[in-house]
Amino acid sequence: MRSMEKEAVEKKVVYSETIAGQDIDAEHKALLESMERLEEENRIIGSTLNRVEEETAMLRELFNNANKELTNLKKPALLVAEVVSMIGDKAIIRLPNANKFYCYVSQNVQDVRAGDNVLVDQKTLNVVEKVHSTSNNDVEKFVIMDKPKENWKSIGGLKNEIEEVKEVIELPLKNPKLFEKVGIQPPKGILLYGPPGTGKTLLAKAVANSTDATFIEVVGSELVQKFIGEGAKLVKDIFTLARSKAPSIIFIDEIDALASTRMDTGTSGEREVNRTFMQLLAEIDGFDHLDNVKIIGATNRADILDTAIIRPGRLDRLIEVGLPDEEGRLDIIKVHTQKMNLQKVMLKKVSAKMQDFSGAEIRAVCTEAGYFAIRENREYVTQRDFEQAIEKVRLQDEDEEDGKFFG
Ligand code: ATP
Repeated sequence: MRSMEKEAVEKKVVYSETIAGQDIDAEHKALLESMERLEEENRIIGSTLNRVEEETAMLRELFNNANKELTNLKKPALLVAEVVSMIGDKAIIRLPNANKFYCYVSQNVQDVRAGDNVLVDQKTLNVVEKVHSTSNNDVEKFVIMDKPKENWKSIGGLKNEIEEVKEVIELPLKNPKLFEKVGIQPPKGILLYGPPGTGKTLLAKAVANSTDATFIEVVGSELVQKFIGEGAKLVKDIFTLARSKAPSIIFIDEIDALASTRMDTGTSGEREVNRTFMQLLAEIDGFDHLDNVKIIGATNRADILDTAIIRPGRLDRLIEVGLPDEEGRLDIIKVHTQKMNLQKVMLKKVSAKMQDFSGAEIRAVCTEAGYFAIRENREYVTQRDFEQAIEKVRLQDEDEEDGKFFG
């Protein structure tokens, strides 16, 4: 019995030692595993934290932007005004409705001068910012500026008119010394008047070509309709541009839109036109007779023109450009048929049939005659093509006069 007990104890000891040894290994392994698991978890938490931090930064930026936008949207709009003059550190400004105010200029706004565009607070009208946008570059977008290719030979008839334009515009630009020696002052500009399509623009372009001058074209009605509130400033910028590109010719088409005698109704539109006109007069008066900038005004309505524009020292040479007579028409036909392939066309007969046609209509007849030939698969133009073309242009004119543009 005793030996049996002893044996059992010995067995127990061996058994417990074995178990203890296995536990440590397993525990060690388990610890290692859970450490690895913890490290992995730690890594995951770390990268989640990074992501959350990134998201927080993004949301913070979004919030800041939205907040900034909200603050901006809550700000009252600023008025655009023009500085009329500076008196010390204060300014007299003119609002678009032409009212003038004497205001303070914020210390942050530097270098404000008369003629600048500024932003003013709606309530106090104090100047809070200067607008830097209006420059010569802007005015270049509003006018057509080029070196025209049309020359004296592009003009049919108009012999007297060409002579006069040469005398008043070409000669002083080409030979100013002659005028100094003789001691007379050439006109600063001319006014071409007459029906539409008679070659007024053509004359202006030809003289710009012959004097190698920059041709700056503005349309009076556009100046006052398109650029409301900006007309006067634009006129000023156009003259500055002309001086910088001299020798130059400023061609103002439809000058009657600016310079017409009108009932002063006192509307803001009237005041706007008036201001633009006054600026034009001031600019014309502001340069010298022998400056190499010349102005050519053109109008179909000389009858409604304000006489201020044609006073001595301004556009004081008036040149009528009327409808061509038969000889003139023949000359114009010759210009426009120069490159046409004509067969047995009696141009004199054609000219006789185009009574009361303007130069533009004569050109239209030549083009139409060419189309009649093309429609019949011919490469040459005949007398009959011209006769049909004259009829077509005449009918078109009558329809236009009746106000029937379509059918
Ligand atoms: P508007 O008063 O409508 O502005 P305008 O008198 O300025 O007209 P232009 O633009 O010079 O007329 O003429 C239009 C076109 O008609 C010219 O481009 C030219 O092709 C033709 N034309 C007019 N007159 C003549 C002319 N005397 N000789 C040759 N072509 C002419």
